[in-house]
Amino acid sequence: MERTLSIIKPDGVAKGLIGEVIKRFESHGLKVAALKMISMNKKQAEGFYDVHRQKSFFNSLTDFMSSGPCVVLILEGEGAIEKNRQLMGATDYTKADPGTIRADFASSIEQNIVHGSDGPETARYEIGYFFNALEIVR
Ligand code: ATP
Ligand code: MG
Repeated sequence: MERTLSIIKPDGVAKGLIGEVIKRFESHGLKVAALKMISMNKKQAEGFYDVHRQKSFFNSLTDFMSSGPCVVLILEGEGAIEKNRQLMGATDYTKADPGTIRADFASSIEQNIVHGSDGPETARYEIGYFFNALEIVR
């Protein structure tokens, strides 16, 4: 069984979409293996998005990610990483497939409701960034 890290970003929480997003995961065969609400400070958001440190949007992105509470989840299932990415839709919501979370709810390329790990390595790093062994259901 594969695991991936998902975040319902501050815009998703502010728009009242926690239940809607989790319903989409659960109804497409992804099981919640861990879940909590957190509020990242700027440094914590910078650490999480460290791979994007050189990008032009890094400062704005980390301001956004530290602007309010997020829900972080571990999703588990066969092909969980790819399945989650499909449910999310493309980064740019105007290019996301109809019926995806971003197509349905995002308001800009930055404020796009959800994060999902993009590969096995990243998933491992990102899960360890937020969760310790005691917090993960086995
Ligand atoms: P995420 O990593 O959040 O799941 P992603 O993998 O689809 O999203 P990345 O390229 O990793 O996209 O970018 C991380 C996040 O940075 C995006 O989800 C979005 O919030 C923001 N972002 C990406 N590109 C831009 C951009 N051109 N302008 C502003 N923000 C951007
Ligand atoms: Mg990414």
